[in-house]
Amino acid sequence: MNPETEFREGLDELASHYKSILDLLGEDSSREGLEKTPMRVAKAMQILTRGYYQDANKVLLDALFEEKYNQMVIVKDIDFFSMCEHHMLPFYGKVHVAYIPNGYITGLSKIARVVDIFSHRLQVQERMTLQIKECIQQTLKPLGVMVVVEAKHMCMQMRGVEKRNAITTTSDFSGAFNQAKTREEFMNLLRGECR
Ligand SMILES: [Zn+2]
Repeated sequence: MNPETEFREGLDELASHYKSILDLLGEDSSREGLEKTPMRVAKAMQILTRGYYQDANKVLLDALFEEKYNQMVIVKDIDFFSMCEHHMLPFYGKVHVAYIPNGYITGLSKIARVVDIFSHRLQVQERMTLQIKECIQQTLKPLGVMVVVEAKHMCMQMRGVEKRNAITTTSDFSGAFNQAKTREEFMNLLRGECR
């Protein structure tokens, strides 16, 4: 999908609301510099929320490969950008995923695609972590999956609620990762060579 050309219904209405918002914020929405801003914001917001219209489970179901490999598969440092549902301000960082296949694997880029879909919605970090985990669990049906998300929240940092550069870490896991030893193996690999 080309995010620059495919916009959803309601774009004009969205833009007209943003025009009102500019005025309500004390701006003059008719001044030259802001003339095209409502439409730009409307388009940006449609792109940032496109995940509502994409099916993450389908992405993985369409890319399952039978494979006997049954050691831990790790995809780390997947960059993501999302918006918190409380302030509609960005939170962003990295997602790390590990799973232990049970007959099926998927393309590594597909895991990144799943992260992209769930992050392009209004989110809380905890739910995004859970949704990524459940999507992988339901489609690949692995022996276990673990997801770790590290993020900076602009709503905390810009408002001064939290120290700058504070990082929030969340994790969720299933199956084999219920064993502390398996989680440790993943965490050690995360902290290892590439960091
Ligand atoms: Zn927030």
